[in-house]
Amino acid sequence: MKCLNCKEPMVVLELNQVEVDYCLECGGIWLDGGELEILIEEPAEVKEMLADFAAGRETAPGSRKCPVCRKKMELVTIGEKEKVQIDRCGRHHGIWFDKNELEEVIEIFDRNRNSKVHRLLKEMFNK
Ligand SMILES: [Zn+2]
Ligand SMILES: [Zn+2]
Repeated sequence: MKCLNCKEPMVVLELNQVEVDYCLECGGIWLDGGELEILIEEPAEVKEMLADFAAGRETAPGSRKCPVCRKKMELVTIGEKEKVQIDRCGRHHGIWFDKNELEEVIEIFDRNRNSKVHRLLKEMFNK
């Protein structure tokens, strides 16, 4: 698939047994619907996050199109103090993260900073 941001072909990376599309050019990441829940291992935190998503609070029309259905995605603001705005397909096809946004989202919802997915992200993106 092509990057939603810079239109370069994306590479597929495996992260915690989840295949993610990653843009080497701009650092953007596409996760198919349901993959974020697999990446974040803490079930209670995931429930909280899904409730946030379902409530769709602080959504705004976005400008990017879903690569699956080509409909315009919506911008969702998540987090209490550290806010991150991500693009989500309203039909649950997936979520787009700009550079570093996936890490920020995982840090908001996964309070265990030494979890496997944190380590993997650090290794993968050299942070
Ligand atoms: Zn890109
Ligand atoms: Zn879609």
